[in-house]
Amino acid sequence: MPLAVREVSIQVIEETAFNLLKLASIVLPRDVKEALRRAYETETSEMGKAQLEAILENLRVAEERQLPICQDTGVVSFYVRLGADFPVRKGIHEALVRATKRATKEVPLRPNAVDPIEERNTGDNTGRYIPFVHWEVFDGDYMELIAFPKGAGSENMCKLAMLSPAHRLKGLKKLVIDTVLEAGGKPCPPVILGVAFGGGLDIVAELAKRALLRPLDQPNPIPELAKLEEELLKAINETGIGPMGLGGRWTALRVHVDYACRHPGAYPVAIAFQCWAARRAAARINADGSVEYLTHEVG
Ligand code: SF4
Repeated sequence: MPLAVREVSIQVIEETAFNLLKLASIVLPRDVKEALRRAYETETSEMGKAQLEAILENLRVAEERQLPICQDTGVVSFYVRLGADFPVRKGIHEALVRATKRATKEVPLRPNAVDPIEERNTGDNTGRYIPFVHWEVFDGDYMELIAFPKGAGSENMCKLAMLSPAHRLKGLKKLVIDTVLEAGGKPCPPVILGVAFGGGLDIVAELAKRALLRPLDQPNPIPELAKLEEELLKAINETGIGPMGLGGRWTALRVHVDYACRHPGAYPVAIAFQCWAARRAAARINADGSVEYLTHEVG
């Protein structure tokens, strides 16, 4: 009996991962679509409005024809929250790799995994550390899975810096605005920005990327960070870079900030850009094998 349960659940995990990759590539999550619609309705620049109109039309056509939203279908990461009492633990990574290979063929996804030693495209979006899987174990009996394919245009604009602790939040704010100005239209705005400070090199990079997973309609529970997010968003949108860098009031849809305690002598900061094609799809897999999709309407 335990073997049968495990076999079924691994299949459910693989199927769910495939469905999430397909959903993420073709349909933006509800909160991102709503934010883009709101931006379109309130954009004051004619050129900016035209760009947002094209983006919304792009989303409509992708859904209607069941095609990826963008030609760059990204490099695949998964975020796994695994309940300590979830019945399956073995073989999850392999199931995620199989799901990625299948999605590459069937969605289809553009093969984006290049082995940098051989300079050879692996052809199926898998390879050393790809898909990258972020693991978290918690007290519970279910599993949460997020598929997060991310394109190179926004990834190339990300920044990691070791600021002087003397400058603190003032230095962070300057770095964010300078980085956004330097990026201009390259990350396909309106962007979502994940910003993290404190901790160390690996910690800020992880937190800044994770901040991109927070739904856009979910306020930061830490009041100081919520205030900082609003302040940064206002300053970024005052740059006038606008949708696709062609001018307008919507350069960013949201800024999400997180932090970790820091060493007294260090002030690491990471800034993660996400383009308007902010693809992510999440599901909860229950211990009985039932699946609830959290970001998309399914069925
Ligand atoms: S940055 Fe985003 S929208 Fe622009 S080309 Fe890359 S994946 Fe597509």
